[in-house]
Amino acid sequence: MDINTNIQYLKGVGEKRARLLNKLDIFTVGDLLRFYPRDYMDWSKTTSVTAAPFDANCCIRAVVNHKPKGAKVRKGMTIYKTVATDGEALMDITIFNNKYAAESLEAGGEYLFYGKVGGNLRRREMISPMISPVENGLRIRPIYHQSAGINSKAIEKLVRQAYETGKDYFTDYIPQSLRDRLCLMEVNRAIYELHFPTNEDMLAEARRRLIFEELFIFQLGLMKLKGNRKESTPVTIERDFTDEFLASLPFTLTGAQSRAVRESIGQMTSQYTMNRLLQGDVGSGKTAVAAALIYTVVKNGYQCAFMAPTEILAQQHYKTCLKFFKDTDIKVSLLTGSVTAANKREVKARLKSGETKLIVGTHALIQDDVEFNNLGLVITDEQHRFGVKHRGALSSKGNRPHTLVMSATPIPRTLALMLYGDLDVSILDELPPGRQPIETYAIDTQKRPRAFNYVKKHLDEGRQGYIVCPLVEEGETDLAAAQEYSENIAQGFFSGYTVGLLHGKMKPKEKEEVMARFVSGEIKLLVSTTVIEVGVDVPNSVIMVIENAERFGLSQLHQLRGRIGRGQHKSTCILITDAQNEAAKKRMKIMTSTTDGFKIADEDLKMRGPGDFFGSRQHGLPEMKIAMLTDTAILNEANRFAREIIIDDPDFEKEENKSLREGIAHLFSGEYVMN
Ligand code: ADP
Ligand code: MG
Repeated sequence: MDINTNIQYLKGVGEKRARLLNKLDIFTVGDLLRFYPRDYMDWSKTTSVTAAPFDANCCIRAVVNHKPKGAKVRKGMTIYKTVATDGEALMDITIFNNKYAAESLEAGGEYLFYGKVGGNLRRREMISPMISPVENGLRIRPIYHQSAGINSKAIEKLVRQAYETGKDYFTDYIPQSLRDRLCLMEVNRAIYELHFPTNEDMLAEARRRLIFEELFIFQLGLMKLKGNRKESTPVTIERDFTDEFLASLPFTLTGAQSRAVRESIGQMTSQYTMNRLLQGDVGSGKTAVAAALIYTVVKNGYQCAFMAPTEILAQQHYKTCLKFFKDTDIKVSLLTGSVTAANKREVKARLKSGETKLIVGTHALIQDDVEFNNLGLVITDEQHRFGVKHRGALSSKGNRPHTLVMSATPIPRTLALMLYGDLDVSILDELPPGRQPIETYAIDTQKRPRAFNYVKKHLDEGRQGYIVCPLVEEGETDLAAAQEYSENIAQGFFSGYTVGLLHGKMKPKEKEEVMARFVSGEIKLLVSTTVIEVGVDVPNSVIMVIENAERFGLSQLHQLRGRIGRGQHKSTCILITDAQNEAAKKRMKIMTSTTDGFKIADEDLKMRGPGDFFGSRQHGLPEMKIAMLTDTAILNEANRFAREIIIDDPDFEKEENKSLREGIAHLFSGEYVMN
């Protein structure tokens, strides 16, 4: 048996079982052994019946008094009962419907019972505990993710079986010298300890080793990709026209903006294609950076394309660009689905001839019949909202043009550098001066009328506002439902004001219409679920009320709040919640104390815990089996040593580095998509 052996060769695995295992992505013995436990049950420490905690899992070693007696309470339901003792106290054991478990217990036999202890102080009870004979017991046992038809225990058994016939299944990707320096366990030992830990310390060491391996290989892979993807481009940007552009701007760039412009232009004037992520909180001025780059690229004789995920955003960028370039000879056009057919033809013709220098649009830009004369720079706003296959489509209309991807999703700096290790990153971590900070308050529902009065006051002054509700239709709970909610307030408290409604079940066209009416100022108060566009800029809206604020994650609250505070008027965000749990309270506290997106993202990561980032594949990165984004200490260590290796032996030619190639190929197998 080796790691490539099909799992069907394991005893007890037939075709049907194999299919169930396949569903868990287990095809080979190697996959099985790398199917790490998601948690553990500690059967190694036992507690006495009297000392057992209420309502937490524990393990009790006890002798069974008599063979459990079954009583059929109704059709299909038999309850088995017995009593066990640890020598000091008695405990009832109740087993529902599990004849097999009940019959495994013998009078006078000593067993380990694992589960929650209930009952009362006088008479303690375990209901349907897990049972193990003492001789197999006393250890930390793995819990695996299970799927219908195959449970954790069955997987544990298969893993054991694999270890009965072999143990050194894997080659260690990490060079011996590095392992020695960092005191890392050998890989096979680590994997074994992860499944069947000797004790807690060994488990911790095994985890550290495997997390390190994963992050280390991951970073090496990204560094390699980045290196390999340095491709030369025929787009020659020879002169930097930034100063000329800045002279026409009504404001001066922030330090962060200047840095981003400088970094980008520096790269475009080298002979290599720029591939850059521009990350900045809402309102940090990404568009101005984009405009500066467009100016220089156009002045060097090339065309630029600027793509946004929705019609509204495209129109907004179009208007902004018209403003930026109004005193220049740069011709700007718009291409979206709603442009009339005749107009489209004209726009396309001018684009093809090279007359249009900047085209702004939606994914209408990637249609086959859109042709450029000489495309030099592609800018994409909120790229993650485009399908993966759309991402490269616009660039392929030119000859290796430069690309800039803009995103307002705040990811902590170190993580951004890692996640986008194959892109260069510029970060706008500074807001333009003179922004009025948004004031945020958290209140309970009793104070809602006061909040509404406050909203009204602003509407009366000619401002606009949002009310955000979490759900559309009346749900199982008392969540404010946007639909009913908006009707209620439109007829009640806010009668006489134009109230609009925006929710996820509306057709894109309907949404666009409502948004357009809000942008134009016709709608004064917009009731909405979370679908308000990220990036929509309505500087006149200065107030936002968020109902059931506890239902939103931190980053989401931050994104929502970013819709206000965009103009010269002071803005206020009011979070309404009655939630008393600690997590909700903590989120409200963070929201009311800072508006710094990166800080909030950091907190969000900490609070959300494992799996969220790597788990979802939206980044197009390989999935981590064990590492989490919160393992920052190991991450930094891995980063440091990966760099060392890349500098010392970039092609992994040294004998001890050779297996790294295999490790990278394995981790990045197939699915890695490059933007
Ligand atoms: P983002 O796209 O990052 O959310 P925008 O580019 O839309 O931000 O900029 C938000 C607003 O700030 C715009 O009205 C823009 O004109 C203005 N702005 C951008 N940079 C500056 C600056 N350096 N000084 C003053 N105002 C700025
Ligand atoms: Mg923007």
